[in-house]
Parts: sequence; structure tokens; C-alpha cells
Amino acid sequence: MLKDFLANAGMLVSFISIYYQLFRSSAVNSKSPIKFRIISGVIMGLLGSTLMLFSVHLPYNVVIDFRNLAIILSAFNGGWISATISLFLISAFRVMINGFNSSSITAIFVLIIIALISSLISHLKINSRLKWLFSISISILVTCLAFTILIKDISLRTEIMWSYSIALSIISFLLYYYILYLEALTESFRRYKQESKRDFLTGLNNVRQFDNLYNEVIDNAISQQKMVSLLFIDIDFFKKVNDTYGHKEGDLVLKKLGEILINTCRSMDIVSRNGGEEFSVILIDCPPPRAFEIAERIRRTVENVQIELTDNLYINITVSIGISSYPNPVSNYDMLIEKADEALYEAKRTGRNKVVLYK
Ligand code: GH3
Ligand code: MG
Ligand code: MG
Repeated sequence: MLKDFLANAGMLVSFISIYYQLFRSSAVNSKSPIKFRIISGVIMGLLGSTLMLFSVHLPYNVVIDFRNLAIILSAFNGGWISATISLFLISAFRVMINGFNSSSITAIFVLIIIALISSLISHLKINSRLKWLFSISISILVTCLAFTILIKDISLRTEIMWSYSIALSIISFLLYYYILYLEALTESFRRYKQESKRDFLTGLNNVRQFDNLYNEVIDNAISQQKMVSLLFIDIDFFKKVNDTYGHKEGDLVLKKLGEILINTCRSMDIVSRNGGEEFSVILIDCPPPRAFEIAERIRRTVENVQIELTDNLYINITVSIGISSYPNPVSNYDMLIEKADEALYEAKRTGRNKVVLYK
């Protein structure tokens, strides 16, 4: 019996590890898209069925394993939809391998009760440890009740009840902590993925994400013959802001400029902080005159905004902006960034607080 329980535990751990690997980008819960909840239910159904292949076969057609845990997990992750799917798969498999008899009917009833109760418990406003504890306790209780109905030999029944209850308690305790560990791992993976695309100070795209999106936009512009304009924005005399008010206040200014850019551009535009006090906006499907208007609007807004520093201090800053547009006037998309930079340099050279369109 111990060998089969160990095999069951091994199966559980490997399935759960694969499950978290599959859903590492977004966790499945009762609000996930239905497709994910169905997949989650199928995986847990397969897990429960696989566990049954390593069951302990006892007299009176009684088969014991940890399939209940698969039902509880699917209810906790994907709500009643996942629970129903795994319940159906596991029940069908139970009948398939052991035939249709009083034992399998009782087993299916046990699974239905566990699926129902776990789905209800998953919605309770209590911490996850209590939810798990309640579900496991009810699962043990219901299963022991089924043993009482099916196993007539009292000493055998008592022995099975104890072995099953102890084994399930130990494995569910370990599984709970293993799942917590996997959740923490996938959460940090998600955060790392998110942060690798964002500039931590302004929340805008960072330069790596700018490169990715820029290449995507250019590919689309080429294949769909659309226009793209690129704005390079640089704060004028920003070093002076840092020197006068300190680096921390300088950071506040950068944050504020990030907000202004997001608010003055269209939602489809791609706003990034390319480094230091240099920002960019990729304007999708935007011809040069329209890009010039947008850049002028940005320049004017920045010029007129009083930026609040700490201690109720207000300052004004200005920005210089260089624009280049594909396919006209820059027909070679490889040169778009270089030409926007040239236009920005021109704006700086000819007085700052200025928009220059590359011609
Ligand atoms: P110009 O008008 O020619 O652009 O002059 P500038 O002073 O803005 O340009 P310069 O390149 O000489 O200085 C840029 C300054 O930006 C220098 C650097 O200390 C500051 N800077 C770069 N990154 C950060 C940052 O993350 N936070 C703060 N506070 N300052 C930064
Ligand atoms: Mg600069
Ligand atoms: Mg500057």
C-alpha cells in the first residue's frame, strides 16, 4: 500500500509542476478566460485518472488513491467549470477501469460531493490555508463514509480508514507548501517578465521594449504600406535641474514628463524612456504634418506645466523634439532612428524648446 501511495504522491508532484509551468504566464482562476479554465479542468481530470492507474485495490471493489486532490485543485484554480470537467473525466475513467458497480457509483458520489463543496469553499472569504484544510477534511470525511458503506469487515475498514486518512493528510500538507512555492516562483517569473519591459522610474517602455515594438511597427508599416513617425524627445538643460535641485527632484521631473507624454499622445502610440532624460514616441499610421502637430502639442504642454517638486517648489522645463517619418521623407527604415536623432540635434543646435522635422 505504501508503495502505491508513494507512486501517487510522485504523480501528483510531477503533474502539478507541469501544470504551473504551463500556466506560468498567467495563473488560472475563476475569472480566467473559459478556454484556460477548460484546459485546467482537463489537466486535473488527466491527473486524477493517472492517479487511479496507481491505486491500491482492496476487497469489495474498493480502489483508493489521491484523485480527490485533483478535484479539489481544479475547483480551487478554475472554479466550478474546471471542477465539473475533471469530475466528468475522473468518473468516466473510474467506470472504464473498474466497471459499473456499487463501488464505482459510491466513488462517483464522493467525487460529486467533493467537487461541489470545494467549489463553494473556493469562494469563501477566508485564507487559502483554511480553504485547503476544510476541503481536505471534508474529502477525508466523505471518503471514510463511503468506506463505511462499502467495506463490511470492520477491522479491515478501520485499518483502511486510518491508512487513507493519514496518507492523504501528509500528502496534502506537503502539496500545499509545494504549491505555495510554485506560486511564488511563477509570480516572480511574471514580475520579472513585466519589469524587463518597463522603465522602473516612469513605468513607460524601456529601451529594450522600445526596440521590440519599433521592429514590430516597422514590419507592419512595410507589409501594410502604412506611415510611421518617430519622435525623439530630450529635456533641455536637464543637468542644470539636477545640479540645482538634486538628483531625486530630477527623478520627479522625469516621472512628470512620462505622465505628460502618456496624456498627450494617442493610446495606440508607443511611448518609451530610451535612457536618461531621453524619451521617444512611435506614432503609428501618422504622416509628418500630423506628427509635427503632436510634437508641438507635447512641446507646448511641457513648457506650460508647472512641475511640483518636494517642499512646494514649482519649476518649468522645456523639451526639444526631433521627428523623422517613414516612408517619406526617410525611405530607408534603417535610417529612421538616425534621422530623428539628427533632427533632435538640429533642434538643440538652433535654440532648444523646439520641434524639428527631418526633411
Ligand atoms: P541639453 O539641453 O543639451 O540636452 O542639456 P542637458 O543638460 O539636458 O544634457 P546632458 O546630456 O548634458 O545631461 C543630461 C543629464 O541627465 C545628465 C544626467 O545627470 C541626467 N540624468 C540621466 N539619467 C538620469 C536619471 O535617471 N535621473 C536623474 N535625476 N538625472 C538623470
Ligand atoms: Mg540627452
Ligand atoms: Mg537634455
